[in-house]
Amino acid sequence: MIEMQNVYKKYPNGIIAANGLNVHIKQGEFVYVVGPSGAGKSTFIKMMYREEKATDGSIMVNGINLSKLKNSKIPYFRRQIGVVFQDFKLLPTLTVFENVAFALEVIEEQPKSIKKRVMDVLNLVGLKHKARMLPTELSGGEQQRVSIARSIVNRPRVMIADEPTGNLDPETSWEIMKIFEEINNRGTTVVMATHNREIVNAIRHRVIAIEGGKIVRDENRGEYGYES
Ligand code: ADP
Ligand code: ADP
Repeated sequence: MIEMQNVYKKYPNGIIAANGLNVHIKQGEFVYVVGPSGAGKSTFIKMMYREEKATDGSIMVNGINLSKLKNSKIPYFRRQIGVVFQDFKLLPTLTVFENVAFALEVIEEQPKSIKKRVMDVLNLVGLKHKARMLPTELSGGEQQRVSIARSIVNRPRVMIADEPTGNLDPETSWEIMKIFEEINNRGTTVVMATHNREIVNAIRHRVIAIEGGKIVRDENRGEYGYES
């Protein structure tokens, strides 16, 4: 599903953000990625959806070798991966419905099936009734639900989230976690970088800890392991 072998990432400024990563994530797993700021969590995650290219080593995702993936094939590859960000990244001039439909339209679906599919995923995240609203009319938690709906609309087998609860209050964060759990229970692999100690310690899953570009801990049903 996701496999990294001896992966290195050196940025143009000389910083080595990934220093020999080896990891194997199976279909259907839920993995938290933890570690201090600047440890290399985002770099680890960005390499999985080819936002960053590894300098050395091999990365396989959904059977695709990312080191050999041509730039022209990246959009096709990305559609198989749902990505959720801390700051939602919704398009401000589009409605909730349009933000989600936008991700689907690129693969030339029929208008009727687009509508059904978009309303189905909005229903899953509890926002069917706000389909006509603009992102600015929604709370942070609701905006994150829209971005989750957008990320799953193409039925990806892998969902990658970089601090999805980083901008949300604790109660809203728990609600967002329920949605991730639901998505994972339906068989989607979830990889989530997070600083949320309470959540990691309460909803137990595999924990990969990164420090200085290296995996320093990899445990099933692990703990957060840092004070804050
Ligand atoms: P984390 O997500 O754990 O905070 P990052 O992967 O963002 O860590 O960063 C790891 C290291 O790589 C840091 O030292 C950071 O400054 C550096 N870094 C991240 N992105 C870039 C970039 N685009 N160019 C140069 N250095 C970067
Ligand atoms: P469908 O196969 O038509 O999507 P399901 O009963 O399987 O119908 O799913 C019901 C809802 O759950 C749909 O809105 C669908 O978008 C969503 N869903 C289905 N599979 C997944 C999945 N693997 N990850 C996230 N959401 C999913």
